[in-house]
Amino acid sequence: MGIPGSGLAKGLAVTLRTMTKRTVTEQYPDVQPELPSRTRGVIGLFEENCTVCMLCARECPDWCIYIDSHKETVPPAAPGGRERSRNVLDRFAIDFSLCMYCGICIEVCPFDALFWSPEFEYAETDIHELTHERDKLREWMWTVPEPPPLDPGAEQPKEIAAAQKAADKLAAQQAKEAEEAAAAQQAESGQAGEAPQAKDAGEEA
Ligand code: SF4
Ligand code: SF4
Repeated sequence: MGIPGSGLAKGLAVTLRTMTKRTVTEQYPDVQPELPSRTRGVIGLFEENCTVCMLCARECPDWCIYIDSHKETVPPAAPGGRERSRNVLDRFAIDFSLCMYCGICIEVCPFDALFWSPEFEYAETDIHELTHERDKLREWMWTVPEPPPLDPGAEQPKEIAAAQKAADKLAAQQAKEAEEAAAAQQAESGQAGEAPQAKDAGEEA
């Protein structure tokens, strides 16, 4: 039989020992945890880089990547050239209720279209909502952390060059569309100005 009160003393000793140690408990959700930048939270899709090669879907051990696409014929780049066909993405979805966060899809993607984001707050009450379609996967892209700084003298990473190329292409396309819209508007206003003049000329005759 132990000494009366020894249990209480042991308990107090544990309390005192714990009180003097650094706190490791995180007060989530009141305080957001500081996660390492390479945390596997959710997968973002940079669809401009996706060529619909299907490698990620084929290699996924859980078969939880769903891709639909169709083929389109692209006119030749130069006169006399051959028409080319390319895959156009119709659907890209990842079912995070099946995903085991192995990262194989990201590793095998040859075109740097998939990235880890440390975001993890996407719990749902309906399991079907855990299938993230391409728009949602694109939204996650904006939460992907910047890559670590390059070593001095290192080449620019190809994903940055590809992203820059895609952004330049989009900007050029938007500028062209704006130019065409302005030209069409100008032509319309020119026609509207000519019509009354023609009417005046007819009355004078
Ligand atoms: S992380 Fe693994 S399980 Fe999840 S979608 Fe990618 S390949 Fe599939
Ligand atoms: S591996 Fe990459 S490029 Fe190929 S379908 Fe998947 S995301 Fe697209």
